[in-house]
Amino acid sequence: FLDGQGLYSPDDDVVILTVHNFNKEVMRSPQAWLVEFYNSWCGFCQRFAPSWKALATDVKGWSDLVRVAALDCSVDENAGLCRELEIMAYPTLRYFHENYQPGPQTLGVVVQKGDDVVSHRHFLIQRLVAEQTEGRGTMYPNLLPYIHSDISHLFDSTPVGTQYAFLIIEKPDTYLGAEVALDLHKTPSIVVRHTFSNNTGLLNNYAIGRLPTVMSVDRSNNYQLLASSGSRQEIKTVIANFLQNKHLRVTDESPKQEIFTGKWLDVEVPDMSSLIQERARQALKERIKLMGDVVFQMDLETALRYSLKHEIATVKMITGEKLQVLRDYLNILRKYFPFGRGGQLFLTELAMKASTEQVQGSDLAEVIRRAEQEDSQVFSSPQQWLACRGSSPSYRGYPCGLWKLFHYLTVNSAERNINNNRANPLEILDVMHGYVKNFFGCHDCSQHFQEMAAKREMRNVSSLDSSVLWLWMAHNEVNKRLSGDQTEDPEYPKYQFPLKERCPLCRNNNNTWNLVEVLRYLKHAYSNINVRYIGSD
Ligand code: FAD
Repeated sequence: FLDGQGLYSPDDDVVILTVHNFNKEVMRSPQAWLVEFYNSWCGFCQRFAPSWKALATDVKGWSDLVRVAALDCSVDENAGLCRELEIMAYPTLRYFHENYQPGPQTLGVVVQKGDDVVSHRHFLIQRLVAEQTEGRGTMYPNLLPYIHSDISHLFDSTPVGTQYAFLIIEKPDTYLGAEVALDLHKTPSIVVRHTFSNNTGLLNNYAIGRLPTVMSVDRSNNYQLLASSGSRQEIKTVIANFLQNKHLRVTDESPKQEIFTGKWLDVEVPDMSSLIQERARQALKERIKLMGDVVFQMDLETALRYSLKHEIATVKMITGEKLQVLRDYLNILRKYFPFGRGGQLFLTELAMKASTEQVQGSDLAEVIRRAEQEDSQVFSSPQQWLACRGSSPSYRGYPCGLWKLFHYLTVNSAERNINNNRANPLEILDVMHGYVKNFFGCHDCSQHFQEMAAKREMRNVSSLDSSVLWLWMAHNEVNKRLSGDQTEDPEYPKYQFPLKERCPLCRNNNNTWNLVEVLRYLKHAYSNINVRYIGSD
């Protein structure tokens, strides 16, 4: 039941970073690093991963200059590092230049996210050009546009053995020249430069009409307009053919790396203990399914632990609106979370920390670390998912647990304040809104939720029962949007909650909702007395 497998595997070209190798790899490195900080449970990160892998493969030939990497902030042991690096939204892309020095300001530079491999590559090149403008990135080929109107400066500052220069003339805001220069940077005896069509002097001097154009130039300034063509690959082929005629060869292959997989046995010996564990898991899964819409203490505690450790204590310094939201969050947890005495004392200690003008995430992390020690009697269960466990580690887990936690809180606030006319109907929803806005690591989800709160007039909710129903309705709206999405766990397809067979009365004959019955069902499913411990039926 252990989670924590990330979205990337050693078979991908993405370098997997962790707290253990981050400093060793990234700090004082001869290469630059482009690192994605992500959360394996975040749907946006899951949708992002294929294009990130594609980028790593696409620019594999540049890996002696810049490495494409990823670090999973949802893994417990990486949380402190993500806090130090002030990663507040997922995924976040940061560029760490070559020879990056460790120190208090080792945050790297944020790089814009693209939608696909092409836009990722363009944003990376924008960063590399900025690096060279700022005087770094000297290991890269010259990526700054050639500014002269004649070709006589193409060999300036090139190594003595450079025999040919290739000048790519292209439209502004295109990246072909830089891409080809990077792709061919290992080819000895050539230099690739680019200029844009707004270098009108050069265009006029050499009668260049079509774009992009590739021009070859030798040391004696003899030049030739090579066949112009559009794509990165086509231009490389043009250059390769030219060089072949001169008995030279393009070198764009990365040196082959032998990856040791550890598989030297021809026969796979089944691990009996893992087979037995797998059977036990299947049996437990079936049992949980049969139990229906019940809430497990283990899921609530695991969600709470994750939220405190990975979303709150990862903020370096909590102040202002965030601090107020934290206080309110701890306040409702102290009122309604199904904790014993140890847990109550733990929440009180956190609340005391949060009562000062500002609180450091690391101070909270220390309180949590002590609470997680075996003899502390705060948590009743190991940090594992039960009903929120997905069919693979990247499915379900934390977002499932967070929904359940807030449904549980709305229902328990309604139950406990049944005779309290003065209770605030937004007691839980306001905190959830603040939490999702300020701490929830899935940036996309947070945006959607805030938009939905505005569109569906969350602030007009006028009773605690309506707040239970508002959250149910909001969650169903998200379920509808995500039904069939690639982030959906195939074993747990999204549906409109509750299922008809679980609550036949919840739907009217015309398939509209019977809200009185839905409320009754929610109050039962998320009631305090129905919280199950593993082993209890
Ligand atoms: P979940 O939707 O997480 O549901 C968990 C459990 O809650 C279910 O198993 C069921 O028992 C119960 N449940 C389901 N529906 C209801 C309901 N209507 N009322 C009461 N109980 C219910 N992912 C995105 O990709 N894009 C988003 O914009 C997005 N927004 C999110 C906003 C929030 C506030 C949260 C907490 C998560 C968001 N997610 C989003 C994640 C997404 O909603 C799911 O949590 C995730 O895909 C895991 O799905 P799941 O199958 O575990 O079921």
